Amino acid sequence: MAQTSAHPSNSDPRRAFAVTVVETLRREGFEALWAGGCVRDQLLGRIPKDYDVASTATPDDVIRIFGLKRTVAVGASFGVVMVLGPTKAAGQIEVATFRSDGEYLDGRRPTSVQYCRPEEDAKRRDFTINGLFFDPTANEVIDYVGGREDLAAGLLRAIGDPVARFREDKLRMLRAVRFAATFQFRLDENTAEAIRHHCGELNQVSIERISQELRRMLAHSTRAYSVKLLVETGLLPHVFPELVDGTGSFPSAEVLTSLRGLELDRFEPAMVILLSNHHLNATGDSRQRLAAVEDVCRRLKFSNEECECISWLMHSLSVISGIANRPLHILKPLLANSHSPMLLDLASAVARSKNLEPVDAEFCRRYLSQTSRDVLSPQPFIDGRDVMELGVPAGPAIRDLLSTIRNEQLDEILVTRDQAMIRLRQLVEQVRGTRGS
Ligand code: ATP
Ligand code: MG
Repeated sequence: MAQTSAHPSNSDPRRAFAVTVVETLRREGFEALWAGGCVRDQLLGRIPKDYDVASTATPDDVIRIFGLKRTVAVGASFGVVMVLGPTKAAGQIEVATFRSDGEYLDGRRPTSVQYCRPEEDAKRRDFTINGLFFDPTANEVIDYVGGREDLAAGLLRAIGDPVARFREDKLRMLRAVRFAATFQFRLDENTAEAIRHHCGELNQVSIERISQELRRMLAHSTRAYSVKLLVETGLLPHVFPELVDGTGSFPSAEVLTSLRGLELDRFEPAMVILLSNHHLNATGDSRQRLAAVEDVCRRLKFSNEECECISWLMHSLSVISGIANRPLHILKPLLANSHSPMLLDLASAVARSKNLEPVDAEFCRRYLSQTSRDVLSPQPFIDGRDVMELGVPAGPAIRDLLSTIRNEQLDEILVTRDQAMIRLRQLVEQVRGTRGS
């Protein structure tokens, strides 16, 4: 077994804690290894997001060794206990007992688990690149599934018979796409074929788990490759039935180029690009279009905040078009919105996909660089009380008056509260005049 190449330094407190956990378990007479994603990431020269340990120790052993205060039985029935690090920076480590999974009845989780040897534990994992172990004391990779070879070849391959593996757990189909895309690996042909065979069974997976995978795919810079793989594996219609219009033309080259042009690690702008191809968008009615987008977001059980962000981006993409010639009371709220960095990213990517200069986004960036927060989003000069003190009865008239004054403030026509009050009196008079006549 070969030594690993360069790995993140031991000064990383999470890594140091992951070493300590292995050493502690071994001192108590158990076998313990790092397992799964952290081994893969380290071999790819990436810093692991978190470290998982697999061991012959059972959950009871782990709780006894590390103490009740430092352990959480997160999945004790699957043999998983979380061990909390000595400091926040050290994070937490999931310690799992080496296990093989029993039968899968519902296409999602095994009905039982048996403790076993590391070889069998490796084989119940999903993909060869995720089935590696690492001994941090000997600095040695332990590979029972050919994962190292596939990592070197850039190949995502199911462990064992791919048809059986996807039959057991349908979510693995989306994980296959996500891992292949985010590492820019090829999908092994048998693995891809098995997904094409089982893609229709994705409906056995809860929508929350599907959308969680989708978020991760679309937030990553490789999102265009994810979408291509979803199409090639036949999964797209099961994830996004709304995007399939029967012509088989999705995604267009423009959609893929726009996706590639996004720079922020956010999934919401990518959703807008995908949904701008929604067949309902052909209607041209912007309200209907927004309603259709909201329906998709709700079906995917996105949070209210995510739904609102996606709708806002969709709507604002038309507002930002030609923004240099629009009044400041349109520009300023657009840029004061907390989602505006995503809007600028989206507008640039969409313009470039059409071979246009991203003039709108560039104008906004320039404006932002020269404008203070106070100017972008100033304190209002007046509020509802000022209007009511002039005898305007409660009702929609107050809102309209406030909005007119606010717009003139943002347009920098009104620059002091006194000016705003004079203008307000004028407007109130006008309203009374029209009522009286
Ligand atoms: P990341 O967390 O970066 O997405 P990861 O490889 O750590 O990648 P996790 O979902 O955290 O992925 O799972 C940890 C490990 O557990 C995986 O590397 C894999 O070995 C195994 N695993 C996770 N989900 C499944 C599954 N659905 N089927 C089989 N094995 C799985
Ligand atoms: Mg992980």
